Amino acid sequence: MALIIDKHQGLDSNLAERIGLECPYCGVYANMTPQSVPSAASLLRDQPKHVGLVYKCDACDAPVFLRFAVREYTENRVELYRNFIELERPKERFSFSYLPKTTEVLFREALSCYSGNNFNAFASMCRRASVSAFEALGEGGKLRAFEEVMVAQDIAGIDDESFEPIKSVLFGSGQHEDLPLLNRAQAGILLEVLKDMFYQCFVRHGKLARAIKVRRFFVSESNGNLASA
Ligand SMILES: [Zn+2]
Repeated sequence: MALIIDKHQGLDSNLAERIGLECPYCGVYANMTPQSVPSAASLLRDQPKHVGLVYKCDACDAPVFLRFAVREYTENRVELYRNFIELERPKERFSFSYLPKTTEVLFREALSCYSGNNFNAFASMCRRASVSAFEALGEGGKLRAFEEVMVAQDIAGIDDESFEPIKSVLFGSGQHEDLPLLNRAQAGILLEVLKDMFYQCFVRHGKLARAIKVRRFFVSESNGNLASA
């Protein structure tokens, strides 16, 4: 079913099948309602190849921009292909504050490549982020990280062949230009595996150490109170 913008009726809401998306603002998978639709008259006059529509996220009311390719112009209506491009993709989130500073900078850029669908730029930045993480972990750090990733592969039940490119990005010692080309699916696995590796190596340690410090603080506070009572 195509999307129709009619000269007299505007966007045909019966044909405008509901669009569900992960909202780039609130992160909820929500229904999107058309909010701003270009006038059919101006489209029919200029006949652009692509048309932008603004939808409203039903969960948080934020505007979400989508771009559609035009399928056909007829006398009174514009027919759009159903496929669209999201101009703003949801940002990947992570507890960055627990990462070493250099790793944080590199991993933020890696995630921004991923959100922009630049999966090989993403892989290159993952290599840089992981190398900086191994340095920060010190002696034996790379081996420890490797073991965490092996556990992740096992938990996720990914076979060795599919996992090879992921391992090669994270642990390969060759030149940067030897990195394997990744597709969307492989980049998605790399993303989850690297998040898990960072979590195990830095976030878990940092959170636990902080939580225990807080517990100790309250124990010494109450001991102090008892002593002075
Ligand atoms: Zn939203």
